Amino acid sequence: MVTLTIDGQQLQAEQGATILDVARDNNIYIPSLCSHEEVTPYGACRLCLVEVAENGRERLVTSCLYPVEEGLVVKTDSERIANNRRTIMELLLARCPDSEVIQDLVKRLGVDKTPFKLEDHQKCILCALCVRVCEEVVGVSAISLVNRGVSREMATPFYGPSETCIGCGSCAYVCPTEAIRVEDVGDTRIISMPNCKMEFKLKKCKTCGNYWAPEKQLDYIIKKSDLAPEIFDNCPNCRD
Ligand code: SF4
Repeated sequence: MVTLTIDGQQLQAEQGATILDVARDNNIYIPSLCSHEEVTPYGACRLCLVEVAENGRERLVTSCLYPVEEGLVVKTDSERIANNRRTIMELLLARCPDSEVIQDLVKRLGVDKTPFKLEDHQKCILCALCVRVCEEVVGVSAISLVNRGVSREMATPFYGPSETCIGCGSCAYVCPTEAIRVEDVGDTRIISMPNCKMEFKLKKCKTCGNYWAPEKQLDYIIKKSDLAPEIFDNCPNCRD
């Protein structure tokens, strides 16, 4: 265990935890759009900037990537931090003016308009949560971030339906701005990404007749586990 101070509060934390982990465990608010406890931190949105004191000077660091250490002194709220966060939110507001999450966060962080003008409005903020969940949690790597600079975007290989995607919808579940959406219509699951739409046939429950999960996802689970395929004949509600 290490002892550190966040906003004047002395706290104990596990070695290896990040400042953001410790702040969250202790109900200290630090905004973030790209962190999730199930995936490796990435430091994409940089909203979680905080100040750490080092050799008498205060340095801005990304709290989701910064491991705590004995005696660390952290400030999560200062004029400098607030200014940096406001600039990030102004950029995000220019990119995704229609996103509810961005709208809520700009209000919370005291931004009412943006000086930046972008013609090309997007929903994706390039947080890469979808990419990390697909790779690290689902184990599929069906999507990635491609290109550089202003052309950077999340995409399936060749921008077409991905052969490896199993239609699980985990990417849509973690997407903070609903840039990826999942919808079940009759016997079909539709995954809509910014530049690609994919369709998956849903399995019908033998008992209730409801369509309940993509067949491709169930095949993937069967292959990865020792479960008998018959287990998936029925939906979770109709299993014994
Ligand atoms: S729906 Fe496809 S791209 Fe999204 S997490 Fe599942 S496998 Fe990956």
